[in-house]
Amino acid sequence: MITAFHHPDFAAPIGEHIMPMRKFALVAEAARALGRVRLAEPPAATDEQLRRVHTAEYVAAVRTGEPRALAESQKFPWSAALFPSVCLTNGACLAAARLALRDGVAAAVASGFHHAHADHGEGFCTFNGLVVAAEQLRQEGLARTVAILDLDLHYGNGTAALAASRPWLTALSVYGSDYWNNTAFRDVTRQRHQDGPNHCCATLPNGCDGARLMKILEGQLPKLLERSKPDLLFYQAGADPLRDDPYSPLALTHADLRERDRRVFAFARQHGLPVAWVLAGGYAPDIHIVVEAHLNTFRAALEVWPNGPTTSAQPNGLGTGG
Ligand SMILES: [Zn+2]
Repeated sequence: MITAFHHPDFAAPIGEHIMPMRKFALVAEAARALGRVRLAEPPAATDEQLRRVHTAEYVAAVRTGEPRALAESQKFPWSAALFPSVCLTNGACLAAARLALRDGVAAAVASGFHHAHADHGEGFCTFNGLVVAAEQLRQEGLARTVAILDLDLHYGNGTAALAASRPWLTALSVYGSDYWNNTAFRDVTRQRHQDGPNHCCATLPNGCDGARLMKILEGQLPKLLERSKPDLLFYQAGADPLRDDPYSPLALTHADLRERDRRVFAFARQHGLPVAWVLAGGYAPDIHIVVEAHLNTFRAALEVWPNGPTTSAQPNGLGTGG
């Protein structure tokens, strides 16, 4: 069985919004219906865990709603339900990471992390659950090094900024749409973001098809292992690179994204990297298209771990998580 962390309160009541909150429950239920996927509720991330990555002022703003501009910097209308919701989605990241260290693979049925910065949110991302989880595992001595593979359509600017001061973190963003100018069919063939020593990126050209994506992945994936073998891999399995997505300038089909996911999981398994994945973006107006793309990530994982995850994935004698 693969464990997927989900909680009904992931979905903050933000009204009609391009960020389809109800996709979490739809994906979770459909994943369970696949069989061999078990749902579990995560504990909420604590204030202390959040403040290892985010400023106290920003965390307090999201909790209290004041100052309002900061509390809504991720572009959700603030309500008292927002803070508990984002603590749960961040907690799901941490829970999935812990379990991946033990089982080899686990999922958090949550999204909205990679644009969040230390002192503000952006692009529907309030707190950076990936870095919050990585920091916590470091604190507990469960992971020394962590890698983040971001295959969302958009450049993971928040993750890159947070990685800059964390030499033990490696981040790779393979993106097809700039974030600041989030318009469809924008040309991002030329790289627009500066790499750092431990965060780098690659662009997908307009009209990128499956063959091209696989070739780019083949070249980029080994970069995650260049510096050191990470104790854990976080995978942002974005559904927004899909050609049906209103933001996507790419030509990727469901089959292409499923093959993308399968290759990532196979790479992780081959190199003994425990992997925890999150949903990331997906904005097709027909929510069933988004759900199908996220479900295909589950199908790809089940293909790579046909007998369920192993319990001996921790390769280097660090704790067994759990
Ligand atoms: Zn995105």
